[in-house]
Amino acid sequence: MGGRNMKSPQRPGQIRNKGYDLSFYRFVINSLPIAVATVDSELRITGFNPWAEQVTGYSEKEAMGRYCGDILQGGMCKINCPLRAVIRKKQSVVRMETTIVDRWGKVIPVRMNTAGLFDDEGGLLGGLEAFQDISHLKALEREKANLISMFAHDIKSSLTIIGGFVLRLLKKRANLNEEKQVKYLDIMRNETGKLTFLVNDFLEFSRLQTGRLKLDFSPTSLDKELMELFDAYQVKAKQAGINLKLENEEELPIIEADANRLRRVFTNLLDNALKFSEKATTITISTHETGKDIIVEVKDQGIGIDPKDLPYIFESFNRGKGAKQKEGFGLGLATVKAIVEGHGGRVLVDSEPGRGSEFTVILPKERAERNPEESAVQGPFGP
Ligand code: ADP
Repeated sequence: MGGRNMKSPQRPGQIRNKGYDLSFYRFVINSLPIAVATVDSELRITGFNPWAEQVTGYSEKEAMGRYCGDILQGGMCKINCPLRAVIRKKQSVVRMETTIVDRWGKVIPVRMNTAGLFDDEGGLLGGLEAFQDISHLKALEREKANLISMFAHDIKSSLTIIGGFVLRLLKKRANLNEEKQVKYLDIMRNETGKLTFLVNDFLEFSRLQTGRLKLDFSPTSLDKELMELFDAYQVKAKQAGINLKLENEEELPIIEADANRLRRVFTNLLDNALKFSEKATTITISTHETGKDIIVEVKDQGIGIDPKDLPYIFESFNRGKGAKQKEGFGLGLATVKAIVEGHGGRVLVDSEPGRGSEFTVILPKERAERNPEESAVQGPFGP
């Protein structure tokens, strides 16, 4: 331990300004993948890193020397300036959610960390604000609330239909011929199927989210599972006027896997491929193996995915632009990812709008030794 650290304990945000090469600090701040603005004791900007330039639209040159509130126009600036607060209390404010306004007047939600900068003697040098654009997270929160209300609405409308037909059968049974009765029962069965599907999706998702979904490993033939799914989906594909192909020339080795969960993975991928494809296109399931892995690809010639949506489609509740007219809650791919990763594998996507999408599931042939606790799948939000 160096003598320098032994002298006196440091408060948060305190720096030793003597004997340090300030260009090093500047280099570090400029390299940080977060927007950082530093100010002097009068809250005039003394540093503005490239991320701050990107988020606000102001260049470092434009920002330097200006009053920080004029550049960031933070939601808290006028009410309770966080910089003045940390300077007054000589402590850092962590993780405040607020807004800033960029140079074009757009309000941007940000997560902001603020700290006062003090010298060895406690003298005020200035302050620092590190902030992150959280527009994407905020949009996701809105989408999530929206989807949950859609989910409740879908459940309610199925229940209303079932309730209505049960009542009709109870009250008018004597006057209904058998054909009508069977028709009503059929409608009820259909709605019950929808409800089961919805509730299963949410139960599975909630188990994934809390890390309570335990995988049940046993020797599994992916050839057999995929062949059964292929047969089951032939009917759906035919009805939609889509050509479904299975290309599995080499026989795959038996692996230790949770067959039920893997079926769910491929069901979700096939449901999406069908949902986002037009008539007279082809969906191909193909398999092959490398030295270490089994690879299953589900490829369609459907609407494809916008490159802007691509990085987020495996996040729960995320739905691409192309999905707006289609049913769904944005949980399918989050579930796929969690299950595949629970098997020690990976799932990749390649897509081009208007050309189609290809999802690649890579599963290791040998299961890595884990302790029993680890065989629980960690959900998209962690344990
Ligand atoms: P959902 O299908 O319920 O919307 P998913 O999690 O299964 O949710 O998929 C997330 C998003 O990814 C979809 O909303 C859609 O935008 C996009 N997506 C997934 N699979 C495909 C596909 N095969 N073709 C086009 N878009 C897809």
